[in-house]
Amino acid sequence: MKSKYPQFKLSLALLEKEPLKLSGKLPPEFLELEPDGMIESISDIDYKLEAQMISGKVLVKGGFELSLGGSCGRCLEAVTIDLPIDFELFYDEISENDEELDITDDLRAEILLELPTNILCSEDCKGLCPHCGVNLNESTCNCGEAPEAIPSLSGDDSPWSALDQLNKK
Ligand SMILES: [Zn+2]
Ligand SMILES: [Zn+2]
Repeated sequence: MKSKYPQFKLSLALLEKEPLKLSGKLPPEFLELEPDGMIESISDIDYKLEAQMISGKVLVKGGFELSLGGSCGRCLEAVTIDLPIDFELFYDEISENDEELDITDDLRAEILLELPTNILCSEDCKGLCPHCGVNLNESTCNCGEAPEAIPSLSGDDSPWSALDQLNKK
């Protein structure tokens, strides 16, 4: 099967000679993400990695940078999240017969692990009023107020209530 994005297959023969440095951009399709409605767009993924062989084992270190677009889970505003990811992979079971080490799936997994499960415009987003739908970050509404909090001139808050209290004693 031909793939539409680069595969990371490291030649072990080359790695044995010298460390390998790779960098570039990956299309968002690299993540093979099913659209889930929460993450609406993914930028190209910048990657940088360095692989080296240390006594027959391979260490791969590097980082990714990408940004995600989506809607805040509380207020539905559009949000962009920048996601820097550092990773370190270690392969200690390398057979002498292997010609290359395919780290494509592991790299993908490193990114998928870091994807947020919840997109918020800010940690303390107040969200939308469940009654009138007003964005509570931008304005306020009266729905949330309990009826007894609304000032009135009758009842215990009226100017006469203090006198009433006195009379009852
Ligand atoms: Zn929000
Ligand atoms: Zn409201």
